[in-house]
Amino acid sequence: MKEVKSPKKPLIYYYGIVLLVILVFNMVVAPLLETHRVKEVDYGTFMKMIEEKNIGNVEVDDSEIVFTDKDGQQIYKTGKMDDATLTDRLYTAGATFTRNITGEMSPLLSFFLSVILPIAIFAILGQYMAKKMMSQAGGPNAMTFGMGKSNAKVYVPSSDGIRFADVAGEDEAKENLAEIVDYLHNPRKYTDVGASMPKGVLLVGPPGTGKTMLAKAVAGEAGVPFFSMSGSEFVEMFVGMGASKVRDLFKQAKEKAPCIVFIDEIDAIGKKRDGQIGGNDEREQTLNQLLTEMDGFEGNNGVIILAATNRPESLDPALTRPGRFDRRVPVELPDLAGREAILKVHAKKIKAAEDVDFHTIARMAAGTSGAELANIINEAALRAVRDGRTVVKEADLEESIEVVIAGYQKKNAIMTDAEKKVVAYHEIGHALVAALQTESAPVQKITIIPRTSGALGYTMQVEQNDKVLMTKEELENKIATLTGGRAAEELVFGQITTGASNDIEQATKLARAMVTRYGMTDEFDMVAMETVTNQYLGGDTSLACSADTQKEIDKKVVETVKTQHEKARRLLAEHRSKLDELARYLYEKETITGSEFMKILQEKEGAAK
Ligand code: ADP
Ligand code: ZN
Repeated sequence: MKEVKSPKKPLIYYYGIVLLVILVFNMVVAPLLETHRVKEVDYGTFMKMIEEKNIGNVEVDDSEIVFTDKDGQQIYKTGKMDDATLTDRLYTAGATFTRNITGEMSPLLSFFLSVILPIAIFAILGQYMAKKMMSQAGGPNAMTFGMGKSNAKVYVPSSDGIRFADVAGEDEAKENLAEIVDYLHNPRKYTDVGASMPKGVLLVGPPGTGKTMLAKAVAGEAGVPFFSMSGSEFVEMFVGMGASKVRDLFKQAKEKAPCIVFIDEIDAIGKKRDGQIGGNDEREQTLNQLLTEMDGFEGNNGVIILAATNRPESLDPALTRPGRFDRRVPVELPDLAGREAILKVHAKKIKAAEDVDFHTIARMAAGTSGAELANIINEAALRAVRDGRTVVKEADLEESIEVVIAGYQKKNAIMTDAEKKVVAYHEIGHALVAALQTESAPVQKITIIPRTSGALGYTMQVEQNDKVLMTKEELENKIATLTGGRAAEELVFGQITTGASNDIEQATKLARAMVTRYGMTDEFDMVAMETVTNQYLGGDTSLACSADTQKEIDKKVVETVKTQHEKARRLLAEHRSKLDELARYLYEKETITGSEFMKILQEKEGAAK
């Protein structure tokens, strides 16, 4: 879509131009005109010209003498001297005594033209502009030189606009929004039955899942203008500006109806008003104005407001009540099929080899958002270019997933031989514990090449399918797998390192969730001890229990992790020879695939039997 900025210029701009023109005229042009016409000469020249009888008209003033030559072509000027016989001599020279040779205006007229007139023009123009501004922004707040304008970006529908087909996956969201498109196409169908469209639709979901894209696609499908503004753009330094921006935005939208107004990050203005003293006045005023505007227009006037947020829980209830943003469309992270579709959409923009299996890539990229998938495709293309190739191979895509997950490879990281050995055992420890438990995701790849994110190596496990539910056993196994790295170090080297910090963090989080949120302990049964406050951004939790219970929870969490850690140690001890062989193999090759790993594991098992 083409982006067209609104062409209006602030009032101060017009004032500036008028002032500049007047100044230029008075200071440069006017003196220039005068000096061209009147030539200043000394008294001697004047007397000489009298002697030569070369004087036409003459005018003697109090302080100066203005005269012309015989032909009257050139006007001269000179100072006045105490010269008693001047008049006689001029008379004999045949001069004509006149007045106002230079054609000067009367002082009154010149005063009028140079002072009164500009002021009048200035005032009239100012009045006119102010009136225009007032009607535009609809209030006296906007008097402050155009700062209350919405500056909304207007996307004029064009043939290259985004359509639903460009947004892969997200079928539920699209279905939901298709109704709005249909309404914009044919409002009669709805008004005839007496149905009115929701005025506002809230798109909620984690960042990068395509909320902006969906909003644009609605406008694209319906072929209507698209106004876009971010919530944070409303909140300005001056109180009242945000409110007048809201007014201006809605006024523009109503003129262009039917149209889509998109407010990104609406939580920036729509946060709960908490009534605390010294709260953010400006934000509240802006929010109030938004609420007023939404109440102000009829349900069926063709302006549909779409808003996006990734913190729906923080929105003011007034904003989400019926008649305002009463429809909520979840835009979740894509599932396996969705990820594959998104990869394919973006892969159209690059040259990919025929045999790239996007299904596998999608499986490896579990938990990524649409934006991250788009980034993965682009990273892969960049990698191909770096290697001097013209097509993108599957290996490029695999590597770029790792880049997105763990950062770039550290080419010249210094790791001592002993450290490398520890890391090899650590990673095999994870992989082996995972493989030895039945309910674990298969290992896809193990590597001990350090990454820029600080990871010294990692074991990539990939679920065969998307998992919606996790059993208690699966969660426990996951914790055991996480402790597997440290367990291998303990077993083999008899000492422990800092390398397990990330594992520890994750294991603790899981165990904690099992106790406080999933009701998986006998002690607490099905009581929620924690609630998620921030579902789409990291999932922070807040504790809701007494201090005594907290103690109990902590004890239970430690117990859960400890049990799994012991299990991991036991499993590894039982398969010590396999642990050694696999670690040695990884140490030599640095990166091994899941199938290589499984082959060695099964070979050994077969030989042992
Ligand atoms: P949000 O507004 O939810 O943060 P955006 O709509 O800005 O996310 O998406 C960012 C980018 O991610 C898009 O420009 C697009 O390239 C990619 N993207 C996200 N979701 C999808 C999807 N479902 N299909 C195709 N591309 C997507
Ligand atoms: Zn680890």
